[in-house]
Amino acid sequence: MDIDAVKRRRKELQDKINRNSSIWKPPIGKSKVRILPSKINPANPFIEIWWHWRIGNNSVICLKNNYGEKCPICEFASDLWKSDSKEDKETAKKLFANLRFYVPVAVRGAEQEGPKYWGIGQTVYDTLTTALEDSELGDFTDIASGRDVDIVVKAASETGKTYNSISAKFSYSNTVLHHDEVIIKKLLEEQKTVQELFPKPTFESCHELLEKWLNPTTEVVTDEEAATSEEGTTRHESHSSDVAPAESAGDDELSQRFAKLFKQKEKDS
Ligand SMILES: [Zn+2]
Repeated sequence: MDIDAVKRRRKELQDKINRNSSIWKPPIGKSKVRILPSKINPANPFIEIWWHWRIGNNSVICLKNNYGEKCPICEFASDLWKSDSKEDKETAKKLFANLRFYVPVAVRGAEQEGPKYWGIGQTVYDTLTTALEDSELGDFTDIASGRDVDIVVKAASETGKTYNSISAKFSYSNTVLHHDEVIIKKLLEEQKTVQELFPKPTFESCHELLEKWLNPTTEVVTDEEAATSEEGTTRHESHSSDVAPAESAGDDELSQRFAKLFKQKEKDS
C-alpha cells in the first residue's frame, strides 16, 4: 500500500466536501441572506467565474476567460462556430463559456455556520446591482447598516417551466450584520479564495473532458468535481442558461474534427 497515496486521496475528498459546503443554494420557498464585505476583493463582492456547463456529466471553469490561457473547449467551440453548418453552430453555442457570479453571504438563521458563496446568474446580478442606482440603498454590505436580500425560489413544477425560477430583492430596512462579534469575525475572515472554491483545471484535464464527451463510450467519468457538479445541477435556476446543456455527443464526425483540430495545433507549435 502507498500510505501517501491514501492520505492524499483522503485530503482530496475532504477538500471536495469543504468546497461543496461553501456553496449555498437557495431552497424552494423564501430565504434571506446578507451579502458580506468581500475578503477577496473589498471593492466588489461579485466574483465573476466563466463556466463550460455540462460537458458530459461535468462542468469545468474556463481557462481562457478566467485565466487568459489556452482553453481546448473554447478553441473547439470557435472552430465549430466558423462552420457553415447550422448544427455545428448549435453545438458551439452549447460549448461556449457562460458567466456566473459568486457573492459571499451570511445565510439568515445559519450565520454561525460561517460565510457561504451564493452563485447567481445574470438576471439576479442585474437586479441587485441595478438597485445601486437608488441612492438610498447605499453600501448594502455595511456591517452596521446594510440591507438583507429576500429571495424567493419557485419550483419548476409550480410555474410550469423547465427550471426553478428565482427572484431576489433588497429588504427595505437597514440592519446590522449580527449582534455577536465572534460570528461577525467568522463571517468576514473565513471566506474562501476562488482557488479554494474552484481549483484551476489543467489544459489536459479540459481536453480529456471534451474527448470523453465526444466519445462517451470510451470511459465513464468517475472523478467528477463535487463543487462543479453541484454547479452543473443548479444551473437551471440561474436564468443565464438560455443555452441548453451540452448533452452527450457520441458523434463520430465531431470527434474526428476535434482530433484533427488538436493534431494540427500540435504540429503548429
Ligand atoms: Zn474555455
